Amino acid sequence: MSVSLPSAVDVQSLHEAVFDWYAVHSRPLPWRDPSCSPWGVLLSEVMAQQTPLARVEPAWHEWMSRWPTPADLARESPGEVVRAWGRLGYPRRALRLREAAVAIVERHGGAVPRDQGQLLALPGIGDYTAAAVAAFAFGDRSVVVDTNVRRVEARIVSGLAQAAPSLTRAEVDLARDLLPVVDQDAAVWNVAVMELGALVCTARAPRCEECPVRSRCAWNVAGRPAYDGPVRRGQRWHGTDRQVRGIIVQALREVPAALGRGDLAPGQDAQQVDRCLAGLIEDGLIEPLSDDRFALPGHAEVTR
Ligand code: SF4
Repeated sequence: MSVSLPSAVDVQSLHEAVFDWYAVHSRPLPWRDPSCSPWGVLLSEVMAQQTPLARVEPAWHEWMSRWPTPADLARESPGEVVRAWGRLGYPRRALRLREAAVAIVERHGGAVPRDQGQLLALPGIGDYTAAAVAAFAFGDRSVVVDTNVRRVEARIVSGLAQAAPSLTRAEVDLARDLLPVVDQDAAVWNVAVMELGALVCTARAPRCEECPVRSRCAWNVAGRPAYDGPVRRGQRWHGTDRQVRGIIVQALREVPAALGRGDLAPGQDAQQVDRCLAGLIEDGLIEPLSDDRFALPGHAEVTR
């Protein structure tokens, strides 16, 4: 199903209102600086996918200072990049970033490619990241759709309190329909809508009274009707395998060498720890040195 723009939507004035707001209110994030390299942009996009920006920014600075180019990261050991990932969560992203750096060196002479197809072919780079790098690193007219964009556009155009539980074809079509024609304007539009969603049109408490498009927003104009779509389940964390995996990887980050099984996640259910250890080994995030000693990948030779 495709969502065509309702005739009431004046796209030109919508663009102008959002551009004006963004020019005044955007946060001066380092990867938005025109001097930031495409590698810096790619790194920021991967880090920010599932982690709040307040935690991303210090880690981004640390990574850019240690590994300012893909070639620098490609030379690093997997264990060291998992260690440096710190508490950003979902540490498989660190391994995929290193694999992407290796692929960039091998396939593209160490330069992040501009072509979205070539970006998509890199390890760990999906549709969103490829589009975001094309837009924000190279100023291309790509359709960048994250959760903020989906929510803002669902409210402004479709008059819905929230976007669908998962990305739909109609949302991508809508985002494409709203994109300015000129490449550079499109890149700014993408980041400006994201910023509006992050700062004003938030999921739980949108501040419509401060919003630059409040008089053009279908949901606001309709009196902000309650969400009546499918039930949205929050993600449980406490007691999950994800939590226990995080405890194990963090324990190994905090030591220079290996740890015995009993020191990895004390107090946690033994069967759950076994299951998490097996998953972490399979994902390449830790290495077994024996039946009951484990280390970050690449640290085995230090610890034997
Ligand atoms: S008016 Fe409210 S709901 Fe509409 S875009 Fe602005 S903040 Fe979001």
